[in-house]
Amino acid sequence: MTQTEPVHILLVDDKPANLLALESLLESTEVITIKAATGNEALGMLLEYDFALVLLDVQMPDMDGFETAELMRSNERTRNIPIIFVTAISKEKQHIFKGYESGAVDYLFKPLDPHILISKVKVFLDIYRQRLLIEKTNHKLEATVAKLKQANRKILDQQKAVIEEERLKVLLQMAGATAHELNQPLTGLLGTIELLQMDQKTPDKLDAHIARIAEAGRRIASIVKKIQIIQHTDIQPCKITAEDTSADGPLLRTLSIEDSDSDYHLIESVVKTFVNLILLRTKTIAEGLYLLKNDPVDLVLVDFFLPDGTGMDLMRKMDAESIETPVIVITGKGDEMIATQVIQAGAFDYLPKDQLSEKNLSQAINNALTKSQLKKESRKIMHIMAEMSIRDVLTGLYNRRYFYESLEREISRAGRTRSDMALCMMDLDHFKNINDAMGHPAGDMALAEFGSMLNEWIRQSDLACRYGGEEFAVILSDTDIHKAVGVCERFRETLNQRIFYYNQKPFQISVSIGISSLAVLSYTTSGETLVRAADEALYRAKNLGRNRIIMYQ
Ligand code: GH3
Ligand code: MG
Ligand code: MG
Ligand code: MG
Repeated sequence: MTQTEPVHILLVDDKPANLLALESLLESTEVITIKAATGNEALGMLLEYDFALVLLDVQMPDMDGFETAELMRSNERTRNIPIIFVTAISKEKQHIFKGYESGAVDYLFKPLDPHILISKVKVFLDIYRQRLLIEKTNHKLEATVAKLKQANRKILDQQKAVIEEERLKVLLQMAGATAHELNQPLTGLLGTIELLQMDQKTPDKLDAHIARIAEAGRRIASIVKKIQIIQHTDIQPCKITAEDTSADGPLLRTLSIEDSDSDYHLIESVVKTFVNLILLRTKTIAEGLYLLKNDPVDLVLVDFFLPDGTGMDLMRKMDAESIETPVIVITGKGDEMIATQVIQAGAFDYLPKDQLSEKNLSQAINNALTKSQLKKESRKIMHIMAEMSIRDVLTGLYNRRYFYESLEREISRAGRTRSDMALCMMDLDHFKNINDAMGHPAGDMALAEFGSMLNEWIRQSDLACRYGGEEFAVILSDTDIHKAVGVCERFRETLNQRIFYYNQKPFQISVSIGISSLAVLSYTTSGETLVRAADEALYRAKNLGRNRIIMYQ
């Protein structure tokens, strides 16, 4: 409170001379004195001003000081204003004032001693000023808390919106990528249909057109399959409910980390109404973490202050352990500062203890679950998208784009460590004949199986990819060209032993392999040159009769 703010004191006495005397005595205290000649007048003034103190004469004609005080006490607005009774009654009769011994009452005896008067008044003025200060601070605090609360809610809403936006972005990206991917076979399909119409009268051309249409159809089908994989990741958020859903739907395992028994019982009594929620409890963060690691739950309700740390500590530890269970922090009343902290630290929501009602808790839980599901879903889609962008669907091997990325990386790594690296280009022999004899699906199956064989054959540090239709590329790290020939030779022999079956009909396939290596070319060679060299060797392998391995020279 500032010095300029006026403080009022009410002086009540039936004798004008006494009032003037009091007034002049109080001049040094810099208060504004208001005067009243009767109890009634005093009560009127009390309703008009905010008084720090009333100096009340006891002996007055109509209504005496005690009666006036009594009436003051009966009014909510004036009940707590301190009173100093000014009286001539001797000190021995003090017991009659018993009814007013409330701490906010004092006595001054006539004749007035100016020093005593001033010092007593000053005590009450100090109390008044302090009270005003506290009220003001409280008021400001309340306003700040209210503002923070609003801000916290806004952050939570925004977080949800951001996740939702992210998810939408991923889906749109995927839709765009799919549209792009579909474009090529569709254009091919439409072009071929046009040709088909033009060539209606030349039957020998029709077969080729139909084969091309079938191929386009297969490519479209494989893209559609990809989309279906993504759709299957759509997870329905689990909602808690107070209605009896006759126990269908999943049960929500919820952990309450709460050291206080009474607080826990409060939570327990609130969640009792949620039919699909199972409540577990630990009293410390350490026990809570142990449970989260060993017997995961769907949701955590954590008290902020716990014997071995705070809700923040729990979230930090969960983060370190990559535990992604959604957390709702139970804060104290008005702990909006803490709420801000915990939200920023990744809490899914917060709830003050004094607002632990069925409605608020179910809202917080459902909010947290929805947010957590959204997060999981968008992460999963992103993961699938990332995988799809580097994998070939049929064989599960890496695709050509990823192969080139890895090749450059592997070349520079080999250059740094001065170790050789071999590149094997593989092409299945007369694969067209397999398709012709067994049908395209049999060919697909053989390609997929060949992919698995390659994958099993290579080491962890190697990389196999589907380079094209029936062409494959394998990077053998830390391997020179002669060693590469050796390992490829064993693989080629294994393939020669392998009998494939389609609809119980057996068939076999073979592969031609061309190999190049960094040491044979140069450690600073480009990936493209390395591929060209291996291709050249592969070409020779084909020309020399297939089912063999040739190294680049
Ligand atoms: P070569 O020994 O000279 O390599 O003979 P080839 O028949 O394997 O070679 P060509 O390049 O003439 O034909 C490749 C064949 O591989 C034709 C094509 O239909 C088939 N092919 C390519 N991709 C796929 C696929 O995804 N599935 C199936 N089933 N066949 C495929
Ligand atoms: Mg507690
Ligand atoms: Mg506690
Ligand atoms: Mg081939």
